[in-house]
Amino acid sequence: MVDSDVQGVQVKENIKFTPSLSEQRHKFVLDFVRKHKPQKVADLGCANCKLLWRLKYHESIEVLAGLDIDENILTRNIYRLHTGAGDYLDPRERPLTITLYHGSVVEKDPCLLGFDLITCIELIEHLEAKELSQFPEVIFGFFSPTTVIISTPNSEFNPLFSGKTLFRHPDHKFEWDRTQFQSWALDAARHYGYSVEFTGLGDPPPGAEAVGFCTQIGVFVKTIPNTIESLHNEKTIECTHTTVGTVIYPSLKEEKYLRKAVSNEVFSQILKMKRVLLESPKMKNDSNSGDELEFVKPKCDESKNDPTEEIPKPFCIENAFYVPLERLFSFPKIKHLCGDLETLKMLIADEVTLSSDGSSVMIHIVDEED
Ligand code: SAH
Repeated sequence: MVDSDVQGVQVKENIKFTPSLSEQRHKFVLDFVRKHKPQKVADLGCANCKLLWRLKYHESIEVLAGLDIDENILTRNIYRLHTGAGDYLDPRERPLTITLYHGSVVEKDPCLLGFDLITCIELIEHLEAKELSQFPEVIFGFFSPTTVIISTPNSEFNPLFSGKTLFRHPDHKFEWDRTQFQSWALDAARHYGYSVEFTGLGDPPPGAEAVGFCTQIGVFVKTIPNTIESLHNEKTIECTHTTVGTVIYPSLKEEKYLRKAVSNEVFSQILKMKRVLLESPKMKNDSNSGDELEFVKPKCDESKNDPTEEIPKPFCIENAFYVPLERLFSFPKIKHLCGDLETLKMLIADEVTLSSDGSSVMIHIVDEED
């Protein structure tokens, strides 16, 4: 079906992007985060919090903030950011605190100071002229994060869409072509000590390449670091945003979660080793005969081609199964979580029974079977 003629090219109506442009914009931010590993990220105009929800899975991020002028949309969507059972069963390595703020992007609130990345995805076109004029001073001058990503519609693409509305969304106050966006962005960057690079998302159809991407993006990087003096001055400014909610995630930096994670892994490895032991022919014969179990060290090897031959192996004495701490420590996950053998011992001390010399974890085979 033919709708319009752009740059001399006839274009089909109902242009659709797969994945949707909104998802592509979020993916753009996520790829940036994966590459640059910021610790503190704020999403301004965060609306339904979907970008924040996606960002919370990134291990580098320890502080996430969302801001929107629409308080209702925040209260309706904060559930996306709440912790779930999985967050406690498999805690993050690093802490994460997410806070949602209600307020305007052009208010100089100190809660948004010191961020590594601020994203403004499809936000600026919602600002009134006065707000837009204050925006660079607040974002680049005051918040002054290390990097800023701004996306906004490219109006040159609009004639490719069917339908005759002026803007893509009824709340848009303007939509810029590439020259307008780039000269605004270059001015702001120059004035506040940033460099800026332009890119975009959403390719035009074949033959209409001259209109550029559907979404235009500016990526700003600070070239002049903040002075300590400027940070001190900023701290004296009052908070204006109200906090809609704060969510604190469990992490392995907290000892109680670290203990749980180590104990879970230790038990899971011990049970695997015990299963191998119980399924060994010798053990089956002995169990059938009703004799007492008398396995000693080398007989309970869990694997014939053990690459960790030098490490003490599990063994049985009577009806108890012993796993040396050194063996447990040789499992990469346990080593990673504990760092050293003494820490392993300390972290599991309350959860397991140790052998009398403290070198192995002991479980009763019969009891465990019951
Ligand atoms: N960033 C979101 C949606 C953007 S829609 C996404 O990627 O899907 C624009 C959002 O900006 C809306 O939720 C609107 O409430 C918010 N907004 C508009 N003016 C604002 C202002 N002055 N300060 C903060 N948020 C604003």
